[in-house]
Amino acid sequence: MIDTYPLLEKIKFPSLRRQALKTLQINLGYLCNQQCLHCHVNASPQRKEIMDKTTINQLLDFIDRCNEDGSNLNLVDLTGGAPELNPHFKILVEEISKRKIAIMDRCNLTVLLEKGQEYLAEFLAEKNVQITASLPCYETDNVDKQRGKGVFETSIEALQKLNGLGYGVPGSDLILNLVFNPQGPSLPPEQSELERTYKQHLKDEWGVEFNHLFTLSNMPIKRFGSTLVSKNQFEDYMQLLQENYLEQNLQSVMCLDLISVDWLGYVYDCDFNQMLGMPVSDKSNKPNKTHISDLAPALLVEREIQVAGHCYGCTAGQGSSCGGALA
Ligand code: SF4
Ligand code: SF4
Repeated sequence: MIDTYPLLEKIKFPSLRRQALKTLQINLGYLCNQQCLHCHVNASPQRKEIMDKTTINQLLDFIDRCNEDGSNLNLVDLTGGAPELNPHFKILVEEISKRKIAIMDRCNLTVLLEKGQEYLAEFLAEKNVQITASLPCYETDNVDKQRGKGVFETSIEALQKLNGLGYGVPGSDLILNLVFNPQGPSLPPEQSELERTYKQHLKDEWGVEFNHLFTLSNMPIKRFGSTLVSKNQFEDYMQLLQENYLEQNLQSVMCLDLISVDWLGYVYDCDFNQMLGMPVSDKSNKPNKTHISDLAPALLVEREIQVAGHCYGCTAGQGSSCGGALA
Protein backbone atom coordinates (compact mmCIF):
# COMPACT_ATOMS: atom_id res chain seq x y z
CA MET A 1 0.00 0.00 0.00
CA ILE A 2 1.47 3.38 -1.05
CA ASP A 3 1.06 6.21 1.48
CA THR A 4 -0.03 9.38 -0.37
CA TYR A 5 0.38 11.70 2.66
CA PRO A 6 3.92 12.85 1.69
CA LEU A 7 2.52 13.93 -1.70
CA LEU A 8 -0.59 15.61 -0.26
CA GLU A 9 1.14 17.57 2.50
CA LYS A 10 3.18 19.47 -0.10
CA ILE A 11 0.00 20.85 -1.73
CA LYS A 12 -1.20 24.19 -0.32
CA PHE A 13 -4.88 24.69 0.56
CA PRO A 14 -6.65 27.81 1.94
CA SER A 15 -6.85 27.98 5.74
CA LEU A 16 -10.10 27.12 7.53
CA ARG A 17 -11.29 27.75 11.09
CA ARG A 18 -13.69 25.75 13.21
CA GLN A 19 -17.19 26.81 14.19
CA ALA A 20 -19.35 25.40 17.01
CA LEU A 21 -19.49 21.62 17.04
CA LYS A 22 -22.66 20.03 15.60
CA THR A 23 -21.61 16.53 14.51
CA LEU A 24 -19.59 13.89 16.32
CA GLN A 25 -18.38 11.24 13.90
CA ILE A 26 -17.18 8.05 15.56
CA ASN A 27 -15.11 5.47 13.74
CA LEU A 28 -15.90 2.23 15.57
CA GLY A 29 -13.07 0.31 13.91
CA TYR A 30 -11.69 -0.90 10.61
CA LEU A 31 -13.30 -4.34 10.59
CA CYS A 32 -15.66 -4.77 7.63
CA ASN A 33 -17.36 -7.69 5.93
CA GLN A 34 -16.37 -6.11 2.58
CA GLN A 35 -13.11 -4.97 1.03
CA CYS A 36 -14.00 -2.32 -1.57
CA LEU A 37 -11.53 -0.90 -4.07
CA HIS A 38 -12.30 2.76 -3.32
CA CYS A 39 -12.26 2.34 0.50
CA HIS A 40 -10.47 5.31 2.11
CA VAL A 41 -10.20 3.39 5.40
CA ASN A 42 -8.57 0.21 4.07
CA ALA A 43 -11.26 -1.71 5.92
CA SER A 44 -11.53 -5.47 5.46
CA PRO A 45 -12.56 -8.69 7.23
CA GLN A 46 -8.94 -9.07 8.37
CA ARG A 47 -8.67 -5.78 10.29
CA LYS A 48 -8.48 -6.13 14.09
CA GLU A 49 -8.81 -2.46 15.16
CA ILE A 50 -12.07 -2.14 17.12
CA MET A 51 -13.15 0.56 19.60
CA ASP A 52 -13.37 -0.86 23.14
CA LYS A 53 -15.93 -0.25 25.89
CA THR A 54 -13.69 2.18 27.82
CA THR A 55 -13.37 4.46 24.79
CA ILE A 56 -17.10 4.22 24.15
CA ASN A 57 -17.77 5.36 27.71
CA GLN A 58 -15.32 8.25 27.23
CA LEU A 59 -17.29 9.28 24.13
CA LEU A 60 -20.56 9.18 26.06
CA ASP A 61 -18.93 11.40 28.72
CA PHE A 62 -17.91 13.79 25.95
CA ILE A 63 -21.50 13.93 24.66
CA ASP A 64 -22.64 14.73 28.21
CA ARG A 65 -20.00 17.51 28.43
CA CYS A 66 -21.37 18.96 25.16
CA ASN A 67 -24.85 19.05 26.70
CA GLU A 68 -23.55 20.66 29.89
CA ASP A 69 -21.60 23.45 28.18
CA GLY A 70 -24.51 24.33 25.87
CA SER A 71 -22.86 23.05 22.65
CA ASN A 72 -25.21 22.40 19.78
CA LEU A 73 -24.21 18.77 19.18
CA ASN A 74 -27.16 17.38 17.25
CA LEU A 75 -25.86 14.37 15.35
CA VAL A 76 -23.70 11.34 16.13
CA ASP A 77 -22.46 9.77 12.91
CA LEU A 78 -21.31 6.15 13.29
CA THR A 79 -18.83 4.83 10.76
CA GLY A 80 -16.13 2.23 10.32
CA GLY A 81 -15.37 -0.31 8.67
CA ALA A 82 -18.80 -1.69 9.25
CA PRO A 83 -19.69 0.06 12.56
CA GLU A 84 -22.36 -2.55 13.31
CA LEU A 85 -19.67 -5.25 13.67
CA ASN A 86 -18.30 -3.56 16.79
CA PRO A 87 -19.60 -5.71 19.71
CA HIS A 88 -20.61 -2.52 21.60
CA PHE A 89 -22.60 -1.01 18.71
CA LYS A 90 -26.00 -1.80 20.21
CA ILE A 91 -25.27 -0.38 23.65
CA LEU A 92 -23.75 2.75 22.11
CA VAL A 93 -26.85 3.39 19.99
CA GLU A 94 -29.09 2.80 23.00
CA GLU A 95 -27.09 5.25 25.14
CA ILE A 96 -27.01 8.01 22.49
CA SER A 97 -30.71 7.51 21.86
CA LYS A 98 -31.42 8.07 25.59
CA ARG A 99 -29.62 11.43 25.24
CA LYS A 100 -32.07 12.49 22.49
CA ILE A 101 -29.40 13.13 19.86
CA ALA A 102 -29.97 12.05 16.24
CA ILE A 103 -27.92 9.03 15.12
CA MET A 104 -26.68 8.18 11.65
CA ASP A 105 -25.37 4.73 10.77
CA ARG A 106 -23.06 4.52 7.73
CA CYS A 107 -24.18 1.10 6.65
CA ASN A 108 -22.76 -0.97 3.80
CA LEU A 109 -26.15 -2.79 3.48
CA THR A 110 -24.68 -6.30 3.16
CA VAL A 111 -23.92 -6.30 6.89
CA LEU A 112 -27.68 -6.38 7.55
CA LEU A 113 -27.75 -9.91 6.15
CA GLU A 114 -24.59 -11.20 7.84
CA LYS A 115 -24.87 -14.12 10.23
CA GLY A 116 -25.37 -12.80 13.77
CA GLN A 117 -26.84 -9.48 12.55
CA GLU A 118 -30.42 -10.70 12.15
CA TYR A 119 -31.62 -8.23 14.82
CA LEU A 120 -29.98 -5.22 13.22
CA ALA A 121 -32.48 -3.76 10.72
CA GLU A 122 -35.38 -3.90 13.21
CA PHE A 123 -33.16 -2.46 15.96
CA LEU A 124 -32.11 0.51 13.79
CA ALA A 125 -35.75 1.19 12.90
CA GLU A 126 -36.83 0.96 16.54
CA LYS A 127 -34.19 3.54 17.55
CA ASN A 128 -35.04 5.77 14.56
CA VAL A 129 -31.42 5.64 13.35
CA GLN A 130 -30.86 7.36 9.98
CA ILE A 131 -29.20 5.03 7.48
CA THR A 132 -26.67 6.30 4.96
CA ALA A 133 -25.76 3.45 2.67
CA SER A 134 -23.19 3.14 -0.09
CA LEU A 135 -24.49 1.99 -3.47
CA PRO A 136 -22.09 3.28 -6.14
CA CYS A 137 -24.35 2.32 -9.07
CA TYR A 138 -27.81 0.95 -9.86
CA GLU A 139 -26.30 -1.73 -12.08
CA THR A 140 -24.98 -5.09 -10.88
CA ASP A 141 -21.64 -5.20 -12.71
CA ASN A 142 -20.42 -1.77 -11.62
CA VAL A 143 -21.22 -2.38 -7.96
CA ASP A 144 -19.69 -5.87 -7.93
CA LYS A 145 -16.54 -4.59 -9.66
CA GLN A 146 -15.99 -1.96 -6.96
CA ARG A 147 -17.36 -3.73 -3.87
CA GLY A 148 -17.03 -7.47 -4.55
CA LYS A 149 -18.93 -10.26 -6.30
CA GLY A 150 -22.56 -10.62 -5.21
CA VAL A 151 -22.59 -7.31 -3.30
CA PHE A 152 -25.21 -5.69 -5.55
CA GLU A 153 -27.73 -8.51 -5.15
CA THR A 154 -27.29 -8.62 -1.36
CA SER A 155 -27.52 -4.81 -1.18
CA ILE A 156 -30.85 -4.88 -3.03
CA GLU A 157 -32.15 -7.56 -0.65
CA ALA A 158 -31.10 -5.40 2.30
CA LEU A 159 -32.77 -2.31 0.77
CA GLN A 160 -35.99 -4.24 0.28
CA LYS A 161 -35.83 -5.32 3.93
CA LEU A 162 -35.33 -1.68 5.03
CA ASN A 163 -38.24 -0.51 2.84
CA GLY A 164 -40.35 -3.22 4.46
CA LEU A 165 -39.61 -1.62 7.85
CA GLY A 166 -40.58 1.83 6.55
CA TYR A 167 -37.10 3.13 5.70
CA GLY A 168 -37.07 5.53 2.71
CA VAL A 169 -40.78 5.14 2.11
CA PRO A 170 -42.96 8.26 1.55
CA GLY A 171 -44.74 9.34 4.73
CA SER A 172 -42.29 7.52 7.04
CA ASP A 173 -39.80 9.33 9.29
CA LEU A 174 -37.21 6.55 8.88
CA ILE A 175 -34.49 8.08 6.70
CA LEU A 176 -32.60 6.01 4.12
CA ASN A 177 -30.06 7.88 1.99
CA LEU A 178 -27.78 6.32 -0.61
CA VAL A 179 -24.22 7.26 -1.48
CA PHE A 180 -22.66 7.34 -4.95
CA ASN A 181 -18.96 7.66 -5.69
CA PRO A 182 -17.36 7.47 -9.15
CA GLN A 183 -15.79 4.18 -10.26
CA GLY A 184 -12.46 5.84 -11.01
CA PRO A 185 -10.54 9.14 -11.05
CA SER A 186 -13.35 11.44 -12.20
CA LEU A 187 -15.71 13.91 -10.52
CA PRO A 188 -19.24 12.77 -9.60
CA PRO A 189 -22.06 13.86 -11.93
CA GLU A 190 -24.66 16.44 -10.86
CA GLN A 191 -26.33 15.11 -7.69
CA SER A 192 -30.04 15.88 -8.21
CA GLU A 193 -30.07 14.57 -11.77
CA LEU A 194 -28.33 11.36 -10.74
CA GLU A 195 -30.78 11.00 -7.83
CA ARG A 196 -33.68 11.06 -10.29
CA THR A 197 -32.04 8.37 -12.42
CA TYR A 198 -31.28 6.19 -9.37
CA LYS A 199 -34.84 6.53 -8.07
CA GLN A 200 -36.35 5.54 -11.38
CA HIS A 201 -34.06 2.51 -11.94
CA LEU A 202 -34.27 1.15 -8.39
CA LYS A 203 -38.05 1.54 -8.24
CA ASP A 204 -38.71 0.09 -11.71
CA GLU A 205 -36.25 -2.82 -11.47
CA TRP A 206 -36.38 -3.76 -7.79
CA GLY A 207 -39.26 -1.85 -6.18
CA VAL A 208 -36.69 -0.07 -3.95
CA GLU A 209 -37.29 3.43 -2.55
CA PHE A 210 -35.01 5.84 -0.71
CA ASN A 211 -34.92 9.49 0.40
CA HIS A 212 -31.85 11.14 -1.12
CA LEU A 213 -28.72 10.30 -3.07
CA PHE A 214 -25.43 11.82 -1.87
CA THR A 215 -22.64 12.09 -4.45
CA LEU A 216 -19.11 11.92 -3.03
CA SER A 217 -15.72 12.40 -4.67
CA ASN A 218 -13.15 9.68 -4.19
CA MET A 219 -10.36 10.80 -1.89
CA PRO A 220 -6.74 10.40 -3.07
CA ILE A 221 -5.80 8.54 0.12
CA LYS A 222 -5.42 4.94 1.37
CA ARG A 223 -6.61 2.19 -1.04
CA PHE A 224 -7.91 4.58 -3.73
CA GLY A 225 -4.88 6.90 -3.44
CA SER A 226 -2.49 3.98 -3.60
CA THR A 227 -4.20 2.64 -6.74
CA LEU A 228 -3.89 6.08 -8.36
CA VAL A 229 -0.15 6.17 -7.67
CA SER A 230 0.43 2.63 -8.89
CA LYS A 231 -1.46 3.38 -12.13
CA ASN A 232 0.43 6.67 -12.54
CA GLN A 233 -2.85 8.62 -12.29
CA PHE A 234 -2.27 10.44 -9.00
CA GLU A 235 -1.02 13.74 -10.47
CA ASP A 236 -3.74 13.87 -13.13
CA TYR A 237 -6.43 13.28 -10.50
CA MET A 238 -5.01 16.00 -8.23
CA GLN A 239 -4.91 18.35 -11.20
CA LEU A 240 -8.57 17.57 -11.96
CA LEU A 241 -9.55 18.32 -8.35
CA GLN A 242 -7.53 21.54 -8.24
CA GLU A 243 -8.76 22.80 -11.63
CA ASN A 244 -12.35 22.36 -10.42
CA TYR A 245 -11.82 24.03 -7.02
CA LEU A 246 -14.68 26.36 -6.08
CA GLU A 247 -14.02 28.82 -3.27
CA GLN A 248 -17.69 28.97 -2.27
CA ASN A 249 -17.46 25.33 -1.13
CA LEU A 250 -15.19 26.43 1.74
CA GLN A 251 -18.27 27.80 3.51
CA SER A 252 -19.85 24.38 3.87
CA VAL A 253 -17.11 21.74 4.13
CA MET A 254 -18.02 19.30 6.88
CA CYS A 255 -14.94 19.92 9.06
CA LEU A 256 -16.26 23.36 10.06
CA ASP A 257 -18.61 21.83 12.64
CA LEU A 258 -17.65 18.12 12.84
CA ILE A 259 -14.99 16.16 14.66
CA SER A 260 -13.97 12.62 13.82
CA VAL A 261 -12.82 10.23 16.55
CA ASP A 262 -10.75 7.14 15.80
CA TRP A 263 -11.14 3.67 17.36
CA LEU A 264 -8.65 4.61 20.10
CA GLY A 265 -10.46 7.85 20.98
CA TYR A 266 -8.13 10.36 19.25
CA VAL A 267 -9.65 13.41 17.58
CA TYR A 268 -9.34 14.70 13.98
CA ASP A 269 -10.98 17.41 11.88
CA CYS A 270 -12.59 14.78 9.62
CA ASP A 271 -12.45 11.10 8.73
CA PHE A 272 -9.95 11.76 5.92
CA ASN A 273 -7.52 13.56 8.24
CA GLN A 274 -7.94 10.61 10.60
CA MET A 275 -6.82 8.24 7.85
CA LEU A 276 -3.83 10.47 7.08
CA GLY A 277 -2.86 10.72 10.77
CA MET A 278 -3.37 14.54 10.90
CA PRO A 279 -4.62 15.37 14.43
CA VAL A 280 -6.69 18.46 15.39
CA SER A 281 -4.99 21.74 16.30
CA ASP A 282 -4.27 22.69 19.89
CA LYS A 283 -4.79 26.21 21.26
CA SER A 284 -1.59 27.36 19.47
CA ASN A 285 -3.07 26.03 16.21
CA LYS A 286 -0.39 23.35 15.95
CA PRO A 287 -1.41 19.75 15.18
CA ASN A 288 -1.49 17.90 18.49
CA LYS A 289 -2.57 14.35 19.26
CA THR A 290 -5.64 14.91 21.46
CA HIS A 291 -7.81 12.30 23.17
CA ILE A 292 -11.59 12.73 23.41
CA SER A 293 -11.37 12.42 27.20
CA ASP A 294 -9.23 15.63 27.27
CA LEU A 295 -11.31 17.65 24.81
CA ALA A 296 -13.43 20.63 25.88
CA PRO A 297 -15.97 21.08 23.05
CA ALA A 298 -16.35 24.87 23.41
CA LEU A 299 -12.58 25.43 23.07
CA LEU A 300 -12.54 24.02 19.53
CA VAL A 301 -14.27 27.13 18.13
CA GLU A 302 -11.93 29.29 15.96
CA ARG A 303 -9.14 26.72 15.97
CA GLU A 304 -7.42 26.15 12.64
CA ILE A 305 -8.40 23.06 10.69
CA GLN A 306 -5.51 20.92 9.44
CA VAL A 307 -5.61 21.01 5.63
CA ALA A 308 -3.60 19.49 2.74
CA GLY A 309 -4.03 18.52 -0.91
CA HIS A 310 -6.81 15.99 -0.28
CA CYS A 311 -9.07 18.91 0.78
CA TYR A 312 -9.52 19.63 -2.95
CA GLY A 313 -11.55 16.40 -2.94
CA CYS A 314 -14.14 18.22 -0.77
CA THR A 315 -14.14 21.48 -2.71
CA ALA A 316 -13.96 20.47 -6.40
CA GLY A 317 -17.01 21.10 -8.58
CA GLN A 318 -20.29 20.72 -6.69
CA GLY A 319 -18.26 19.82 -3.57
CA SER A 320 -18.33 16.67 -1.48
CA SER A 321 -19.04 15.92 2.16
CA CYS A 322 -20.53 13.16 4.29
CA GLY A 323 -23.90 14.68 3.32
CA GLY A 324 -23.16 14.73 -0.42
CA ALA A 325 -22.74 17.75 -2.72
CA LEU A 326 -22.18 21.14 -1.07
CA ALA A 327 -23.38 23.50 -3.80
S1 SF4 B 1 -18.10 -1.29 2.91
FE1 SF4 B 1 -17.29 0.73 3.36
S2 SF4 B 1 -15.84 0.45 5.06
FE2 SF4 B 1 -16.26 -1.59 4.17
S3 SF4 B 1 -14.58 -1.90 2.69
FE3 SF4 B 1 -16.34 -1.01 1.59
S4 SF4 B 1 -15.97 1.20 1.60
FE4 SF4 B 1 -14.66 0.31 3.17
S1 SF4 C 1 -10.60 16.77 3.76
FE1 SF4 C 1 -12.47 18.03 3.62
S2 SF4 C 1 -13.45 17.80 5.57
FE2 SF4 C 1 -11.34 17.14 5.83
S3 SF4 C 1 -10.21 18.92 6.51
FE3 SF4 C 1 -10.07 18.90 4.30
S4 SF4 C 1 -11.77 20.17 3.59
FE4 SF4 C 1 -12.16 19.63 5.71
